[in-house]
Amino acid sequence: MGSLITALASYCDIKQAGGQWLVRIDDLDPPRQDPNAVASIIRSLTVHGLQSDRPIEFQSNHATHYDAALKKLQPHLFYCRCSRRQLRGLGRYPGTCRNQKTFVENSAVRINMQDGEQSFDDGFLGPLNIDLATQLGDFIVRRRDGLIAYNLATAVDDGRGITHVLRGQDLLPVTAPQRYLMTLLNLPLPEYAHIPCLEFEDGSKLSKQTHAPALKDETAAQNLVDALWYLGFSVPEDTKSVPLILNWALEHFNPAAIPKRLPKYRSSRV
Ligand SMILES: [Zn+2]
Repeated sequence: MGSLITALASYCDIKQAGGQWLVRIDDLDPPRQDPNAVASIIRSLTVHGLQSDRPIEFQSNHATHYDAALKKLQPHLFYCRCSRRQLRGLGRYPGTCRNQKTFVENSAVRINMQDGEQSFDDGFLGPLNIDLATQLGDFIVRRRDGLIAYNLATAVDDGRGITHVLRGQDLLPVTAPQRYLMTLLNLPLPEYAHIPCLEFEDGSKLSKQTHAPALKDETAAQNLVDALWYLGFSVPEDTKSVPLILNWALEHFNPAAIPKRLPKYRSSRV
C-alpha cells in the first residue's frame, strides 16, 4: 500500500502536467533480489492501471553509463579500505583514505566531498538546505564488491532526461548526494517532491522489512480508492473500476491537499 500511494501520486502529478510517467527498476543488487519480485511489481502496476509511457528500464542494463560516470568523476574519487568496524559509531566518514588515489585491491570508491551545501525547493516540503559535508561526508559510489552504489546509479539515470521526481520522504536523505553527483557530472537536475510515507501505528514505515502485508492484485480498484483516501481524496462510491478511478484521480488530485502526515495504516479501512 505504501508503494502504491507514492506510485499513484507521482502518476497523477506528472500526468496532470501533461508529462510521461516512467518506470525504472533499480535492480543493481542481485544478491539481495528475489527473482520473482520484479515480475510481481510490474504485474501489480499493470493491474492497477499504472502503465509506463516508455519501455521499462532496468539499472542492471546501464553498466556502461555508470562506468562512464565513474571515469568523469575520477578527479574527485579515492579508494577506501576502511573496515566497517573502523567506521562504526562515526556519524560520517572521517576522510581517512582521501589521499589514496590509485587502485588498491578490495577497496570501496568514495567521493571527496568538498562543498556539499545543497539548497533546493522541494515541491512538497518547500525550501530545503542540506549540508552534506557535515552530515554525510565522503560517500561511497562503488562498493567494495564492485557494485555501483544506488546514489550514483540513480544520479546517472535521473540525469538522462528525468524532469520530475516524486517519491516518499524515506528517500529524502539520498536526494542531496544524488544532486551533488549530478552537479559534478554536469547533468540537468530534476524537480523533486517528497511526500509523507505510510506508517504503522507505531510510526515505522510500511516495507518488506517491517512485514507490511502484500498488496492483493485481485482488489486493485479498492486498493486505488484506499490509496487515494490516505492521500486525502475521497473517491465517490459509484466510481468502481480501475480506469474510472484513475480518471477521477487525474481530475481531482492536488499535491497541496496531501496531509503533512498520512493517516496511520489500517489493515482494513472502513
Ligand atoms: Zn577509508
